[in-house]
Amino acid sequence: MSIAENIQRIKSTLPPTSRLVAVSKTKPVELLQEAYDCGQRIFGENKAQEMRDKEALLPKDIEWHFIGHLQSNKVKYIAPYVALIHSVDSLDLLTVINKEGEKNKRVIPCLLQVYIANEDTKYGLDDTELFALLESLKTHPLNNISIYGLMGMATFTNDKQQVKAEFAHLAALFKQVKEKYNLPNFTELSMGMSGDYQLAIEQGSTLVRIGSDIFGSR
Ligand SMILES: *Cc1c(COP(=O)(O)O)cnc(C)c1O
Repeated sequence: MSIAENIQRIKSTLPPTSRLVAVSKTKPVELLQEAYDCGQRIFGENKAQEMRDKEALLPKDIEWHFIGHLQSNKVKYIAPYVALIHSVDSLDLLTVINKEGEKNKRVIPCLLQVYIANEDTKYGLDDTELFALLESLKTHPLNNISIYGLMGMATFTNDKQQVKAEFAHLAALFKQVKEKYNLPNFTELSMGMSGDYQLAIEQGSTLVRIGSDIFGSR
């Protein structure tokens, strides 16, 4: 299957409420261009310098989504153009992103990454830390970031019931935050990868992040 066929196949299964993030980490720009040429406009990267290098080479109407663990000293490489940072997991990081947003005279869209898996290898806030962060934003608003929603990664397992329960948990948190906080742009629920995006869609995902099912294994 070609990249174009893979994208068509995946898109045909997505409801109109969910968008495809083509996860292009480690892949050369020629393959991103191939995806671009068949209409793909959202790309996901997990390394700041790699994203910066690709952004410089590819068309300007691409929406660059940052999906990996982000170190504070690397925010500067993506702040001028990044369309959405999926992986904010601390107030310190959010504060740095806000500063870089200010320097670039823009508001940077962010998702808060929540830890939903039953594995100790995944980053993210736990439920208590999530609400603590939202409370601090209420008393100390940051003007150059905006919280667009939540992101999570399920456990890497064949147990569909477990994955479904983890996505359902994130969806419930999303609903709770939406009801409790007055966040004007809070609309995005980023969940689902190559192996589990169908389950994620069933639980209300608005952004699926798919790499290997489009570009092949890494
Ligand atoms: C790599 C990655 C993906 C895509 O994974 P695939 O299994 O290749 O679809 C999605 N989300 C995050 C955070 C990633 O790091």
